[in-house]
Amino acid sequence: MKAVVIKKAQGEVAVEERERPAPGPGQVLIRVHACGVCHSDLGLLQGAFPIAQFPIVPGHEVAGTVEEVGEGVTWPETGTRVGMPWLYSSCGHCEQCTRGDEVLCQVAPQVTGITQDGGYAEFMLAPASYVVPIPDSLDFADAAPLMCAGLTVYNGLRNAGFEPGDRVAVIGLGGLGHLGVLYARAMGGRVTVLSGSSDKEEEARDLGAERFISTNNGSISEALQDWEGGANIILATAPSTEPMTEALPGLAPDGTLAVLGAAPGEITVSPMDLISARRHLMGSPSGSRKDARDALEFAAIHNVRPRITLRPLEDAGDVLNEMHEGRLRGRVVLTME
Ligand code: ZN
Ligand code: ZN
Repeated sequence: MKAVVIKKAQGEVAVEERERPAPGPGQVLIRVHACGVCHSDLGLLQGAFPIAQFPIVPGHEVAGTVEEVGEGVTWPETGTRVGMPWLYSSCGHCEQCTRGDEVLCQVAPQVTGITQDGGYAEFMLAPASYVVPIPDSLDFADAAPLMCAGLTVYNGLRNAGFEPGDRVAVIGLGGLGHLGVLYARAMGGRVTVLSGSSDKEEEARDLGAERFISTNNGSISEALQDWEGGANIILATAPSTEPMTEALPGLAPDGTLAVLGAAPGEITVSPMDLISARRHLMGSPSGSRKDARDALEFAAIHNVRPRITLRPLEDAGDVLNEMHEGRLRGRVVLTME
C-alpha cells in the first residue's frame, strides 16, 4: 500500500510503498477513502509535538470503510463506514476516561497520526472501540474534515456554553474557522469573522457571517463591543496569540474566549478585564467519542458541509508546504483513488 511518511521532525515528507498491516486483537483495518490535512500535521512536521513517534504516517481526519476486523471485534463489521479522529485511544480507567471525557486522559493518551500511524495512507489500523460511525448522508470527503476541525469547533462551542442566539466571534477563516462559522450558524448563533486578510470578507459573509472585522486596523475589542455589547463566545482558530489578546476585552459579560488553535507565544489578559465582566478564558481540544458522533450527526442533519479541495495522496508534501506559506483556502482533503 501507499503511505506518506515523515521520518523525523523537519524531515522530508516521503511517499513509501509499505506492506498492508493486519489487524491484531481488538483492531480494525480501515481502507482510507479520504483524509483531511489539519494544521497540526504541519506542526508535527515542524517538530511541535514532543510526543510524536517518528517515523510516522500523519493524518487524524480519516474517513473510510472497515476492510478487515481483528480477533474479538464485535463492532464494527467489515464494510462499515467509519472515521478516525485525533484521539486514537486512552487508558480507559482514569477519572476522565470513566466519566466519558477520554479526550482529557492524561494517563495513556494515544494520538492518531502523531503517536500512531494515521490516515495519509491507503490503509490504517485503529482500535475498534475508538472508530466513529459516519452517517450515510455524509460522503467520505465531507466527513473527513469533521473528524478534527468540525469536531473541535462544534465541541468548543458546546464547552463554552453556547446557546442559540449567541453572538459568536470567529478569529481566523481557515480550515478550522470556516467550519466554526458553519457550525455556529447551523446551531442558531450569530457570527462575526475576524481576519487579517480583508479579501476573506466575501467568503465570511457567504458562509453566513453578519459582520467582518479586519484585525489590521483599529481596536478589535472596540469593534466587538460595538456589536450589541460584545461577543458571547470568541472562537480563536487562527494560530496566532495577538488577536486573542486583543479580542478578549471584546467579550460581553459572562462571555468566553475558547482557544482552539495552537499558537506559539502567550495570551496576556488584565485581571480587571476578567473580573469586571466575569469573562472566561478557556482552551478546548477536539473531543471524545461521544462528541465526535454528535458532531457528525449534527452535520448530517443540519447540512453542515466543509469547503474542501481534493488532492491526491501523493501531493501531501506539497499541500503541507502550501499550508506553511498560507496559500490554502478551506480544507484540503487527500483522496486515495
Ligand atoms: Zn487536527
Ligand atoms: Zn484515561
